[in-house]
Amino acid sequence: MRILIVEDETSIANFIRDGLAEEGFAVDIADNGKKGLQLALDNLAEYDVILLDWMLPGLNGIEICRSIRRENEIIPIIFLTAKDTVDDAVFGLEAGANDYIRKPFSFEELLARIRVLMRSHQQVSTEFEAGDILMDVERHIVSKEGKPVDLTQKEFALLEYLLRNKGKVCRRTRIIEKIWDIHFEHDSSVIDVYINALRRKLDTPGTPSLITTVRGVGYKIEEAP
Ligand code: CA
Repeated sequence: MRILIVEDETSIANFIRDGLAEEGFAVDIADNGKKGLQLALDNLAEYDVILLDWMLPGLNGIEICRSIRRENEIIPIIFLTAKDTVDDAVFGLEAGANDYIRKPFSFEELLARIRVLMRSHQQVSTEFEAGDILMDVERHIVSKEGKPVDLTQKEFALLEYLLRNKGKVCRRTRIIEKIWDIHFEHDSSVIDVYINALRRKLDTPGTPSLITTVRGVGYKIEEAP
């Protein structure tokens, strides 16, 4: 899952990025308004949530929010704001934001709001099943035949992406865009490393792999493996 942070205060941006990275999110940061809007518009399909500071050099958060909403009405946007009057909050929501959080905030509070928005945005289950594998995204648990499987954050994110798209081919370029951030060097062989790790942990020796390779294109988990 990928998040864009538009925030000119480096310490706040890094604080959020580090926390989200630990939770397995891919994170892009823009430190001014113009760059933020550009990144947002270039990658609208990739971002699951956009965190938008209010006061920014270049373009302010309200202008960015309005511009994004002209292109896309559903992508979740949360304002990060030091402004603290009710009027300002209403103004932000009227500009098209889904939520706002006042600085200073705790990372846990921000994370909780992000998860709520992602849930309503995706409007899909957070529990998945494929063969003898169960994934509970909310509780961050993967199990095989009822026994927990220990996955790294990236392995978990990759498996979640494949399961959310069960029955469809997940293209390598889309996987990279979705699971790794913009600074990632485009050597997509890293995907194979993670797929192999998932297969080692999830497959039963002597039976077909949970994850099918679609040669030259990507990977998929079959609808009914
Ligand atoms: Ca600012």
